[in-house]
Amino acid sequence: MGTSVQGRPIRLLALGHGPRKVLLIGGIHGDETEGAYTISELPGAFAEARLGDAVTLSVVEDANPDGRAAGTRENANRVDVNRNFPASNFDPADPSSGHAPLSQPESRVVRDLIEGLNPALVIALHSWTGRQFVNFDGPAGALAERFAASSGLPVEESTAFAPTPGSLGSYAGRDRGTPVLTIEVLKGSNPKAVWDRIRVALLEIIAG
Ligand SMILES: [Zn+2]
Repeated sequence: MGTSVQGRPIRLLALGHGPRKVLLIGGIHGDETEGAYTISELPGAFAEARLGDAVTLSVVEDANPDGRAAGTRENANRVDVNRNFPASNFDPADPSSGHAPLSQPESRVVRDLIEGLNPALVIALHSWTGRQFVNFDGPAGALAERFAASSGLPVEESTAFAPTPGSLGSYAGRDRGTPVLTIEVLKGSNPKAVWDRIRVALLEIIAG
């Protein structure tokens, strides 16, 4: 798909061939690796659930490989990739936003995918200290409720948080009108336990 600031590949995995297009993105924050096991297990579960005729699932396994290698939230330029999207609320005054939208190769890869695929749903995997929940932007309220009912993670409105200028949810969800679900699992939790907790809910929202 592309490469990071330091030249690491950003890989895209495509599963199935159905008309419903779903994009799942892992690793935007390099120090939030709890979802990595989920991403490694998803292809097998997707096949087992026989979703391939209904869904084309595109998976960015790790959108910020430099951050993961360094154990940092930001990329190698110390930019928060999740503040570097071309959203109307982009904040050029904050250095961690990257000065201009799409100044970073990692955010460009994700933007290009969204514009190219025009997915019916974007799912981003993150982790949060002390709490877990699902958050949504754009017309994803019903999907968030379904995810919550199956996983037990409560729904949090985006407006309940500090503003997230230039985030994926701001750009794709609020501005572009693409449903975006942000799954925040408990930071530091066992990655296999995360998968066990969200597996059924994740497959349900992927199926639509
Ligand atoms: Zn995060």
